Amino acid sequence: MFFDVFRLNLYNKNLSMHMDNKIKLHDKVFRPYLSNDVIEAAIDRLAERVNADFEDSGDVPIFLCVLNGAIMFTAAMMKRLRFKAELVSIKLSSYQGTSSTGTVLIPIGLTAPVEGRRVIIFEDIVDTGNTIVALKEMLISKGAKEVRICTMLMKPEVYAKDTELDYVGMEIPNAFIVGYGLDYDELGRNLPDIYVLDESKDKNMKYYILFGPPGAGKGTQATAMVEKYNLHHISTGALLRKEIAAGTELGIKAKSLIEAGALVPDEVVEGMIESEFKSVKGVDGFLLDGFPRTIAQAEALDAILERNGEKVTSIVSIMIPDEMIIERISHRAAIEGRADDADVSIIKNRIDTYHNQTEPLIDFYKKAGTYNEVDGVGTIEEVRDRIFKLVDKF
Ligand code: AMP
Repeated sequence: MFFDVFRLNLYNKNLSMHMDNKIKLHDKVFRPYLSNDVIEAAIDRLAERVNADFEDSGDVPIFLCVLNGAIMFTAAMMKRLRFKAELVSIKLSSYQGTSSTGTVLIPIGLTAPVEGRRVIIFEDIVDTGNTIVALKEMLISKGAKEVRICTMLMKPEVYAKDTELDYVGMEIPNAFIVGYGLDYDELGRNLPDIYVLDESKDKNMKYYILFGPPGAGKGTQATAMVEKYNLHHISTGALLRKEIAAGTELGIKAKSLIEAGALVPDEVVEGMIESEFKSVKGVDGFLLDGFPRTIAQAEALDAILERNGEKVTSIVSIMIPDEMIIERISHRAAIEGRADDADVSIIKNRIDTYHNQTEPLIDFYKKAGTYNEVDGVGTIEEVRDRIFKLVDKF
C-alpha cells in the first residue's frame, strides 16, 4: 500500500517545461524529465512525513545512505529532518549469482554497527526491490531494532516484493533515468535535474519496397538507390542464397523450394527481415528487395514496423511485360550463374508464383496509399532516373 505518493506521467510536458536541453552521456542521449523544483517539492513532502513519525519519538535513528546513488537524496533529506540522527553509509553491489539464490549483496562498508538501532534507509530508486529488500533483511540479521525504507523514486511496474516501502517520494514508469545522484555508467550523478533516456529518433527511417516481377531489374536499381539515399539493401533472395551456400539447416530447406520456383515459408523470411532491421545501424532507411512477396508477409512487415513506431514509406514498383522477363533472366543466367535462372520451366514457375501470390500486393499497397510505379523498360540509367525522381519526393 502506497499512500500520499506523487504519481508522475513520464510524458507530462508541464513538468519539464523549463528544461528543453537534451544531454549526452557516453553514447546515449537523455531528455529532461523531472526538474529540480519537482524533485525538491517531493522531498519536502517526504521529509514532513518522516518528521511526523520521528520528531517526538526521542529516538536517535541511523540514516543509512546507500552509496553512490542516494548521496544527493540523503543530503536533501538531512537538511529537512529536524530530529537527532547519525549518518551511516553502505555501498552495495548486487548481481545475479549463478546459484538459484539470486541477488548477492556485497557490503563494502557499513560504517557503524546497527545493533539495537532504528534505521531509515535512504535509497535513490527502487525498481525490482531485490537490493533494498535484501539490505533490509541484512540489517535485521545484524540486530537492527527497526528498518524503514525511504526512497526518492520507485517503479511500481517492476517492483516485485511484498515488503512495504515506508516512504516513497515519487512513482515513475519503468524508464531509464539519470541525474540527482543517479548515473549512467558513473556519469550524470551531479545533474540537479533528472533526465530520461531519449529513445525518439531525430528523423524517421525510410522503408522502401522494391517491387516487380523477377528480372525487372530490382537488384541493379537497388545498388544505385542504396548509395544515393544511404539505405541498407535487404534482398531476401540474396540472404537465402547465402544460407544455401553456407549449407545451413535453413539453406537446405530453402534450396528445393527456390529451385522449384516456389516461395519459402513466410515466417522464415519475416525472421530474416526483423533481424536485419535490428542489427543494421547508421543508415537513413532500408530498401527491401524481394520482400514482401505475399499478403501475409506485407501484414507481418506492417506489424514489425508498427511495433517500432515506423511505417512503409513507399513501394517502388518496376514494371516490365512478361515477355521481357524470360529474356532478361536468361541474359542474367549467363552472368550470375543462379540455378533458378538457368531453366526456362523454373523461370515460368517463378512468373506464375509472382502473378498468383505477389501481384495481389499491388492492390494491398494501393489501398494503403503507398504504391508508386515506374516503367522498367529502357536502359538501366533511364529506369534509375525515373526511380530517383520518385524517391526524391520522400
Ligand atoms: P529473388 O532473388 O528475389 O529472385 O529470390 C529468389 C528466390 O528466393 C525466390 O524465387 C523464392 O524462392 C525465394 N524468396 C526470396 N524472397 C522471398 C520471400 N520474400 N518470400 C518467399 N520466398 C522468397
